[in-house]
Amino acid sequence: MGMDTSSGRRIAHPFSKAAGVAAVTARRSFAVILDGLLPPRCICCQNRIADAGRLCAPCWQKMPFLEKPWCYRLGTPFSHDMGEAAWSPKAIADPPEFDRLRAVALYQGPASDLVLSLKYAGRRDLAVPMGHWLARAGAEILSADSLVVPVPLHWFRLWRRRFNQAADLARSVAQQSGASFQPEILRRVRRTRQQVGLSAKQRHANVRAAFKLAKHREADVFGRHIVLIDDVLTTGSTVSACTKVLKAAGAARVDVLAFAHADPSVSRDA
Ligand SMILES: [Zn+2]
Repeated sequence: MGMDTSSGRRIAHPFSKAAGVAAVTARRSFAVILDGLLPPRCICCQNRIADAGRLCAPCWQKMPFLEKPWCYRLGTPFSHDMGEAAWSPKAIADPPEFDRLRAVALYQGPASDLVLSLKYAGRRDLAVPMGHWLARAGAEILSADSLVVPVPLHWFRLWRRRFNQAADLARSVAQQSGASFQPEILRRVRRTRQQVGLSAKQRHANVRAAFKLAKHREADVFGRHIVLIDDVLTTGSTVSACTKVLKAAGAARVDVLAFAHADPSVSRDA
């Protein structure tokens, strides 16, 4: 930085900006060269593939995608087409708090590998392709008016992990669908035990009162369509607890979009 002595104002050194631009350009060029040198790899198994950011053919074949026809409420597959609005016996017997649920895949094979890599191996780049699949699975529930809200982490877990994987996915879904990314509407006010290994009843007790609306956000939620995003869905007790909070604040509709469905009662050939 140089000094304009007549006025006392600091002015930029004539070379500093040019040097900064040159450094950025050099870094970008280096990244482009690296991309050119390193062959693209499967986002799951690291096999070499033709285009970056995709699955290789064997992983694609093993990816347990959930496809239509499915239950209107729960997004669980039907063995034959019963019409767009058909409910599964489970949805009829025990209607969920939320309006509709859609999941990309079963929590198996490459789908569980991707979830674990995003969450525990620092592969935050996976949020882009995973968000693409989420936006596709949620095409019939997402619109430009939707608020995309990630299931929040408790601050202590966020501090330990340094990022919320559901928020990374939600940001990606919002970017790809044109909906509004709203990461700060819900707060997790109680640390809850990991849900793995708990019965359905224990899960409900575990997450009861764990979530709250953030202060002064009632007006943002009232009358709106919310799409809750999570990476893995088991019994749905976490998203049900979030839904109750949002509906109590006046949300018009709450739908759920999860990457992987881990409920053992759900299969692709139900
Ligand atoms: Zn692969």
